[in-house]
Amino acid sequence: MGMRSNTSNVIREHCKELQLSDDQISEMMSRLLEDIQLGLGKNTHQKSIVKCFVTYVQDLPNGTERGKFLALDLGGTNFRVLIITLGEKHFDMKSKIYAIPQSIMLGTGTQLFDHIAECLANFMKEHNVGEERLPLGFTFSFPLKQKGLTKGILERWTKGFNCSGCVGEDVVQLLKDALSRRNDVQIDVCAILNDTTGTLMSCAWKNFNCKIGLIVGTGSNACYVERVENAELFDGDRSKPYVVINTEWGAFGDDGRLDIVRTEYDREIDQHSINPGKQLHEKMISGMYMGELARLVLVKFTKQGLLFGGRGSDLLFKRGNFFTKYISEIESDKRGSYVNCRQVLDELGLSHATDQDCGNVRYVCESVSRRAAHLVSAGVATLINKMGQENVTVGIDGSVYRFHPHFHDLMTEKIAQLVTPGIKFDLMLSEDGSGRGAALVAAVACRDQSRRHN
Ligand code: BGC
Ligand code: MG
Repeated sequence: MGMRSNTSNVIREHCKELQLSDDQISEMMSRLLEDIQLGLGKNTHQKSIVKCFVTYVQDLPNGTERGKFLALDLGGTNFRVLIITLGEKHFDMKSKIYAIPQSIMLGTGTQLFDHIAECLANFMKEHNVGEERLPLGFTFSFPLKQKGLTKGILERWTKGFNCSGCVGEDVVQLLKDALSRRNDVQIDVCAILNDTTGTLMSCAWKNFNCKIGLIVGTGSNACYVERVENAELFDGDRSKPYVVINTEWGAFGDDGRLDIVRTEYDREIDQHSINPGKQLHEKMISGMYMGELARLVLVKFTKQGLLFGGRGSDLLFKRGNFFTKYISEIESDKRGSYVNCRQVLDELGLSHATDQDCGNVRYVCESVSRRAAHLVSAGVATLINKMGQENVTVGIDGSVYRFHPHFHDLMTEKIAQLVTPGIKFDLMLSEDGSGRGAALVAAVACRDQSRRHN
């Protein structure tokens, strides 16, 4: 190996602020744990930042769930409608992706729910179930204060959504209202759930140790199985031992408690977002922001003359132009090869990059994605340690976890350092948690209903 050039060393030095020291991580873990406890507590919940909403999901699937279900999945990269048949040995699933144009994401709640209802009705007709009354599970991946399995009040919008007239409303009712405005199909909303819960359920179907559901996608969040006695606000069936808690950890730091690790880039991301001051933890982690974080770092180094001979491009200087998937592509190059990296830089009008620039661009991407993986790991380890169970499986979904070439390994390594000695864990990719999980939650609800009726 040759000597590293001076510029590369300066870049490495600047990137140190994106590295989390052991002390910072352990401080964050204790703060997150404190915040989770405030969220769970009866007298502290109202003012808490990490809300820890109870989900009313108390039973994990046991493999006996059967039947035909509809599911809606809103809040990730795509909006989807699904029809799922759970059988003895298999499940069958058909789904369709529908676009949600930005005008709807930022429009009125009525427009949004009318659009959802229209997609659902069309889908049912296409699948010849337009005349049936089917149970439906609604994966709605935003913070909901749940009042029951079929009632959830929207606390705030996150990610790219900001529809008027929805915050403070029961989202299930908004869907039902839209369906009755159309009055052409019948459905039975059996459950509304978060994508983390869906992910947990779909992994627990095969793996009984699965007790945490995690999303590292457009947004980031985790849920876990908590003892009912710790869920002080839970007013459901307290004779059952457990209930799933939706932490909504994306909001961690909204009171300043993450400022010890936030950088100028994080502050800039936040200032230009549609929800300034909100979801600060999520903004350091998730796919909606990761590419832009890297871009801000690259722009700064370019302007300092440390990259591309000080010559950037209009595309590089424009907000939102460095996609999160670029990070995965660049980090997928074999060490020392820059095939993907060059392709990305060409797309950005930076074909004058040298090999040294490519190496430095990769280093920036690695710094940003590694920080995200470490933040997520600190959160997961906090939950694992809190639960104190010897063997835990974490069910995971989301575009960042799925497509980033090293995220899984980075997490495995970091969590191993952070969990209480003796605890074993594994990280399991969920196969379509938001879709199948919604059907499973609906099915478990129906399973219990029919048991009660018998
Ligand atoms: C939402 C969560 C969701 C997560 C992942 C966050 O922005 O607040 O409810 O689970 O994104 O989709
Ligand atoms: Mg999803």
